[in-house]
Amino acid sequence: MDLGIRDRIAFVAGASRGLGRAVALELAREGCRVAVCSRDPGRIEEAATYIREAAGISWEHVLPVACDVTDEAQIEEAMLRTVGHFGGLHILVTNAGGPPAGFVDDFDAAQWRAALELNLMSTINLCRHALPHLRKAAAGDGLARILMITSVSAKEPIPNLYLSNVARAGVQGFAKSLALELGPEGITVNTILPGYTRTDRLVELAEAIRARTGSSVEEIERGWAEANALRRIGTEAEFAAAAAFLVSARAGYITGTALVVDGGRVKHLL
Ligand code: NAD
Repeated sequence: MDLGIRDRIAFVAGASRGLGRAVALELAREGCRVAVCSRDPGRIEEAATYIREAAGISWEHVLPVACDVTDEAQIEEAMLRTVGHFGGLHILVTNAGGPPAGFVDDFDAAQWRAALELNLMSTINLCRHALPHLRKAAAGDGLARILMITSVSAKEPIPNLYLSNVARAGVQGFAKSLALELGPEGITVNTILPGYTRTDRLVELAEAIRARTGSSVEEIERGWAEANALRRIGTEAEFAAAAAFLVSARAGYITGTALVVDGGRVKHLL
């Protein structure tokens, strides 16, 4: 299926590795021009090289931007650089790392604020600073998309992930409000909720649990897999394929939705 996004311009946040980088690669393979951001200039440069080589595209079609998404001024600058380099913006994918695990007594107010900055305020600020450019795209050639990477914890809170549970719920409220407001302008807004997906972060998480509990990484991963209908952990490529569809021309009538990509982990009817 041709997704209809050749030569469109995308900005993918949190893209030096993991789900963000996989989505950027998928969009590059579909012919998009892609700006990728993360905090460390060296790491985002490496990710851009990886994407160019894996997608077999020329150097200028991937723009690495060092940007900490918890810093609004850096977001504003990153958007301006993207639009300056490529000449516009059609697709915004918001993303960042996940907050630490823990229960209610484990975090002070500063840690709560940091998590909300990382996963909620970053999403809001990325959208705010992308919006003028997305509005131009919608009024021009008609394709304008926002996709927010969150977590299955937005649908079904995970017991020891208080910070994530709360921040992701906020993102869902923001996404739905934005979808309703921007619908008349033809801009779609959706969220995509990964379940257990094999990324560097998941490998690090398994290592941390192994060090704490003595269980082997294989046992830990088997436990995660068995909670899913498909009885396995997902791949970055499977996640990226679903994300690319949601920002594509083919998904023009999908807005305000929250798509779980979790191998059947969440057990709700809807
Ligand atoms: P990851 O840690 O492998 O990648 C996160 C990316 O975000 C990295 O490129 C990192 O450099 C970047 N980043 C972190 N903080 C940033 C900041 N302040 N500014 C700019 N960039 C920043 O994580 P992942 O596994 O790819 O997951 C991506 C998101 O999806 C996370 O929020 C995670 O909690 C969520 N999630 C992942 C899974 C999973 O199984 N992988 C499951 C549920 C939810």
